[in-house]
Amino acid sequence: MSEDTLFTKIVNREIPADILFQDDRATAFRDIHPQAPTHILIIPNKPIPTVNDVTEDDEAVLGHLFVVAAKLAEQEGISENGYRLIVNCGNHGGQVVFHLHMHLLGGRPIGRMVSRS
Ligand code: 5GP
Repeated sequence: MSEDTLFTKIVNREIPADILFQDDRATAFRDIHPQAPTHILIIPNKPIPTVNDVTEDDEAVLGHLFVVAAKLAEQEGISENGYRLIVNCGNHGGQVVFHLHMHLLGGRPIGRMVSRS
C-alpha cells in the first residue's frame, strides 16, 4: 500500500487538482474547499509532515514557498489589496493534511487573524 500523502499524490499527478504552479521544489494548487475567492495551497514537493519536522536543510525550499506565494498573488490580482498566508501545525493549529502547506487566501477582506471557535 502506498504511504504517500494526499498532497504527494497531487504533486505526482496521481489524483487531480487545479495545479497553478510546479517546479522541482514546490507545487501550488487551488484548495478543494475554498474559504475565499482565492484559496491556493503551496507545498514543498518533499513531504515534510508539520512545522515541527522542519530542519535547517528545509530553509531554501520553505523560503521558496514565499516566492511562489508572491508570484501567485500577483497572478491572481490580489497583491495590491493584500492577502493572508497561513501554515497550520498539528491539532491545535487545525492541521488536517500532514504534508506541510501554506494557504494563500485573498480576494476579499480575510477578517480577524484568529477565531475563537
Ligand atoms: P489544513 O487544515 O491541513 O491546514 O488544510 C488542508 C487543506 O487541504 C484544507 O483547506 C482542505 O480543503 C484542503 N484539501 C483537502 N483535501 C484536498 C484535496 O484532495 N484537494 C485539494 N485541492 N485540497 C484539499
